[in-house]
Order: sequence, then structure tokens, then C-alpha cells
Amino acid sequence: MVKNIIQAIDATAKAHLDQLAFDEMGVTHNYRDVLTASNSFAAWLDAQELPANGPILFYGDHQFEMVAGFLGGLKAGHAYIPVETASAIPRVQSIIDTAKPQLIVAIDPFPADNFNYDGIILDRTSLVAIFAKAVTYQVTHAVSGMLPFYILFTSGTTGSPKGVPISHDNICSFANWMLGPDFNLPAGQTYLGQTPFSFDVSHMYWLTSMLSAGTIKAIPSKVVQNLGQLFTCLPKLYLNVFVGTPSFGEMLLLSPDFSASKMPSLKYFIFCGEELTVSTVKRLFARFPDAHIFNTYGPTEAAVAITSCEITHEMVDTLERLPIGYDKPGVTTSIWDGKQQVTEVGKHGEIVITGDSVAAGYLNNPTKTAESFFQIDGRQSYRTGDAGFITADGLRHIIGRMDFQIKLHGFRVELDEVRTGLERSAYIKQAVAVPKYNQQGQAQHLIAYVIAKPNHFETERELTAAIRTSLKGQIMNYMMPTQFKYVAHFPTSANGKIAVKQLIAEANPTCH
Ligand code: AMP
Repeated sequence: MVKNIIQAIDATAKAHLDQLAFDEMGVTHNYRDVLTASNSFAAWLDAQELPANGPILFYGDHQFEMVAGFLGGLKAGHAYIPVETASAIPRVQSIIDTAKPQLIVAIDPFPADNFNYDGIILDRTSLVAIFAKAVTYQVTHAVSGMLPFYILFTSGTTGSPKGVPISHDNICSFANWMLGPDFNLPAGQTYLGQTPFSFDVSHMYWLTSMLSAGTIKAIPSKVVQNLGQLFTCLPKLYLNVFVGTPSFGEMLLLSPDFSASKMPSLKYFIFCGEELTVSTVKRLFARFPDAHIFNTYGPTEAAVAITSCEITHEMVDTLERLPIGYDKPGVTTSIWDGKQQVTEVGKHGEIVITGDSVAAGYLNNPTKTAESFFQIDGRQSYRTGDAGFITADGLRHIIGRMDFQIKLHGFRVELDEVRTGLERSAYIKQAVAVPKYNQQGQAQHLIAYVIAKPNHFETERELTAAIRTSLKGQIMNYMMPTQFKYVAHFPTSANGKIAVKQLIAEANPTCH
């Protein structure tokens, strides 16, 4: 059981000095490098006399310097704020204004002229020079207990991003769960390092790996964006554990090499961040028949993920939508109908999370904190805005975002339910349903964005007619979209999830 993450990572590193800790496309670092770099950086930070426990903003991609920098900062008592290179300027300015970091570590060049910021900027060359100094560092004031470990900013498409400080104890509870029997991951595994550090799902690979003497196989974003390069490097990573969104899993399934015959060491798949569909898991099982596939669920506000279960062959054969699993130790999820807890099995309502993973609130934002955070019997709780239900066996299910629930001619319609319905058609690979609003903001009809399976139809009109016929009796009439738009792929957010809100905005250019 890990009590203190910094001590535990240091202990792992000391016991595996020559073991490979980080490999970014052949640029490798062992656990000795992790120790030296983080200690040297912590010593340098102490000498700067920054405000005690003030956060540090890290601007970069998937480099070793990001992780070593986070650890050095934590040793000196500072939380990290990871910000992806080339993030939109207003977003970065809003993060600076909200979190007020006194140090920006620019692993990639930081366009300082674009920002109103008067703190220190440390560039990569200077950081690497600091890392190289071998110092003896005594860890005396590392981040612990309820102090912030990291601050992540929500990726909402409207309004300013909200800062979520996650405490050492919040994330320690998550780390112990990842290392425990629910996942049963062996030590010394190689982890896919694809999700950006600014997306909290990255903790599933980097913390878990560092706490179990594993190796992070980091893939830079520019490689992820180039399918040819990505698919070429994939089998050479000798991965054991995939961590990522279902959308990224779908992307990898486009490569014929993403299979047990070409990647025999890849045994574990941990999904998070958006719905894992039956269709994705079926295709994955066809490629990796013996894989352990986990669906996990959670919002940033409850430290990465708080429910999980292993998806079985039986589940994909019998269920239409997959469960998000059982609660992690220390957390209780419950279903709320307005202000009341709903105890009836199967009853729909909002998913509320209670327990030791839940953040204290939003950074410097009491109004938003009061809207979403509250206490149940003295335990910290968070309203997720997700609709869900619990079945008799205790499994949790998500229906969709409450704000993706619309009224269409009097019917309550879940956009995710329409999508699931559409994907029953043999002609559809993936679909997203969005509402078309009138000037009064009322939903008038549904538009389906569709990635079609290869087919013999000569026109989209013929394909649409065939889809409609194939869905007769498969989807409620009022849920049938009136318009079908065919696309090669869906837009994704910075975190690699399908950007449903972007499609809604595209379909409704004059609505705000
Ligand atoms: P984020 O805070 O960006 O990680 O987003 C959290 C939201 O992603 C949740 O509130 C859900 O709406 C969605 N989400 C996360 N995991 C899953 C999952 N396994 N299935 C369906 N939706 C998910």
C-alpha cells in the first residue's frame, strides 16, 4: 500500500536504477535518471524561494523532462499544471490568471510575448543543465496529504476552463487502486504513453508505471497525428499495457498490425474518458482474443477514474451497452433524482460520486464549486452531470451527459441512445447524433453524422435509404434522424474524445 507517492517512486527508482523508465521514440532514461533529475530540480527550486506550495506550469508534450519535472516540483512542495504545447492562447492565459504560477517550465518553446505573465520562465536547455547536476537532496517538504499534487483544467468547449486541484491523498487513493487486485497488473510492464499529460488519464500510465518499475513508451503528439508513422512505430514499442480513450483504440484498430500476432506482448487494455462500445470491444477481442479489457469511468474532479470492470466475452455477446463497472475502494457512486438519492435498482438519475477521490472544489471559483460539490454524511461529493443507473448486481452504467439529453417533440431523447441505435445498422461503423435547434432553441429534428462501413451504394441517398430500412424496428421512430451526413472521421478534442459539442455547434451555426 502506497502511503506517499514521492517516497514510493523514489523507493522504486532506487531498487531499479538501471531499469528503463522512459522511452520516447528511442530517447531513453532509466530510473537513475529519474532520481538524479528530480532531485537536482527540487534543489534548484528550493533555491528560487518560490511561494511555498505554489504551482508550476509545465508547457510541453510527452518528453521525459515533463515527468522528471513534475517529480522534482513535487519533491520541493509544488503541484504541477501540465499544459499542452500549442494550446489556444486564451486557454493558457486563463490558466495563468486562475492558478498564478510563479514559474513556467517551457519544455517546448513558450510564446511569452502572447501572454500577460511576469513570473520566471525556465527553458528546456536550462532545465536539462539543472537535471545534469548531481546533488544530494533530502526530501523534507514534498507534497503530501491534502496539498495539491496537480491542477488540471477542464476542457469545456464553452466558458473559461475550471481548475481542479487534486490532492496528494486523492491521487494516492487512485494509484493504490491501479496497483491493486481490480486490475492485477504485473510489475515491470511497458505502458503506452499517448494521452497528453494535460488529460488526467495520463496518470493511468505514468504514475502506475513509475510505482511498479515499468517503462513508459511515450509517443509524441506529432507521431500520433501522422497515422503512417504511428502504425510503423506501434509494433516496435513491445507494449504490455494500452491506456487511452476508445477513440484512440479505434484509431489503432485501423492498423492491421494492431493484433496479437504482431504485438504478442500486449495483454491489457485500459479505457477511460468516453463510452467504450460493444462494437469496439468485439473488434478488439477479434484481434486480441486473450486480452484483459477494462472499462473505467470518472471525471477530472474525482481524480482520473472511480469505477471499473473487466469486459468479458459474455458481456459483449449479450449487452447493448457496456457497464462502467464497480466503485473503487474509498468511493461510493450513487444515483440522484433532483435532490434525493434513488435507491431503486435500474432507476435513472444523475451519478454522484462520494469519497476519498473527490476534489475539494474548483480553484478560486466558489460559485462553480458550490454548484457541483457538496457533502453527504461528512464525505466530499461531486455531481457529475452524467445520467446513469445501477443494476441489481451492483454494476454502474452511464447513459450519457445530462446536457446531451434533449426534448424532441415531447419525447426525452438521449443522444447516446440514438447513437447506440444507429450503430446497430450493418452499414454504420460509428455514428454521432446531434439535435438541430430552431431560433427558439427547441430541438426540431436529429442529424446523424456517420462513418459508414465499406459498401456498394453509388450515392449517399441510396446508403441512407438502406440504413433506414436496416434500422426498422431497431430504433424508436422518434429517434430516427431526418438527415444523415457522411464523414471519414469525427473531430476529436485535445484529450482524444469525440468532440460532440463541436458537431452540435457545426449543425447549429446560428445558435449560441
Ligand atoms: P473528463 O473530466 O474530461 O475526464 O471527462 C469526464 C467525463 O467523460 C465523464 O463525466 C463522462 O461524461 C465521460 N466519461 C468518462 N469515462 C467514461 C466511460 N467509461 N464511459 C462513458 N463516458 C465516460
